[in-house]
Amino acid sequence: MFQPISKSRTFKGRPLVLTCPVCGFEYCHVQKVYTIMGSDEYEAGFIEGTQIGGNTAERRSGLGIVVDGECGHKWELVIQQHKGNEFIEYNLMTDEDIP
Ligand SMILES: [Zn+2]
Repeated sequence: MFQPISKSRTFKGRPLVLTCPVCGFEYCHVQKVYTIMGSDEYEAGFIEGTQIGGNTAERRSGLGIVVDGECGHKWELVIQQHKGNEFIEYNLMTDEDIP
């Protein structure tokens, strides 16, 4: 498996690029963005400009970004806060998984 963010091999001056976590291909497109709602009634909330696209057991909400790779793979890039850090994770998806 590859990291979902890598050093760009293609564009100089833009050092990081989203990459397919399955095959490492750099050509992909953001398809949808949404809030993954946290579980804490005080600390969870909408991420401005998005709608709810799921839930997480984490206390604070996360940001879900569906990425469609030109390689044929699709994944959800998640930016999830946990104890003051914003972690970057991913989940492989199919069209049926998109909220
Ligand atoms: Zn791929």
